[in-house]
Amino acid sequence: MTTASNGTVFLVGAGPGDPDLLTVKAQRLLQQCDALVYDSLVPQEVLALVPEGAEKHFVGKRRGHHSVPQPSTNAVLVELAGRHSCVVRLKGGDPFLFGRGGEEAAHLARHGVPVQVVPGVTAGIAAPAYLGIPVTHRRAGSSVTFVTGHEEIDKGRPGVNWRGLACSSDGLVIYMGLHNLAHICEELMAGGLAASTAAAAVQQGTVRGQSSVISTLAELDAAVREAGLNSPTIIVIGEVVNQRVISCAPEPADVEMPIPITLG
Ligand code: SAH
Repeated sequence: MTTASNGTVFLVGAGPGDPDLLTVKAQRLLQQCDALVYDSLVPQEVLALVPEGAEKHFVGKRRGHHSVPQPSTNAVLVELAGRHSCVVRLKGGDPFLFGRGGEEAAHLARHGVPVQVVPGVTAGIAAPAYLGIPVTHRRAGSSVTFVTGHEEIDKGRPGVNWRGLACSSDGLVIYMGLHNLAHICEELMAGGLAASTAAAAVQQGTVRGQSSVISTLAELDAAVREAGLNSPTIIVIGEVVNQRVISCAPEPADVEMPIPITLG
């Protein structure tokens, strides 16, 4: 199926929150776009780069808003590309990492709409970095797995094999893992990961609301609850957490992250 299209849709990564972590390309496209489609986890300071006259559509989940089903977002993108030459579809972090960017790209391509991806800095690397934690380390971690803790979104496919990951990846970076954290930690220990394995959780990494706990696998869930961490939070599990160099961690940007209503 094809549709006449005037414009190109750019699937742009907004980075993890700190506006200084936008790529130069993302910044340029935001400044010159005719239409913007964005969701949660993008601060106002980034949205402010978009020209006043541009058409703006919010399609995320946020308190006080209904969430927009994916098929409507896809349809909005096709429709906008028919009327505008530069459409930016802005997503938190990197658009191809747990951002459904792949689905949107496929939909646009199917409808004959030119589409280009603009990679962004993912929260799974940036949030640990803002604590001074490297996600790999020559002595402490040769492999790292980016994994979703929100298995519902993978409905129809087998769930994540946590026990298998326990013995196959040195480090784990877990997105959307908060609501399922106790189960995840138990499965990792059942898979052979020591209870004493270092673990960290970072809420709202890189921005004003940044808050974190450093713990062990056995105690992480309790520590996260005690600290009252909420979505969005990245979990890091593995010896790399012990390689933390506190002095290299940047100050979080003094901007506010809009909070989505989903847990994780
Ligand atoms: N595409 C995004 C991830 C989207 S999934 C990326 O590449 O970063 C949404 C999840 O990402 C959240 O539930 C949380 O686990 C994580 N996340 C996004 N931004 C975050 C931030 N600033 N701090 C901590 N976690 C974040």
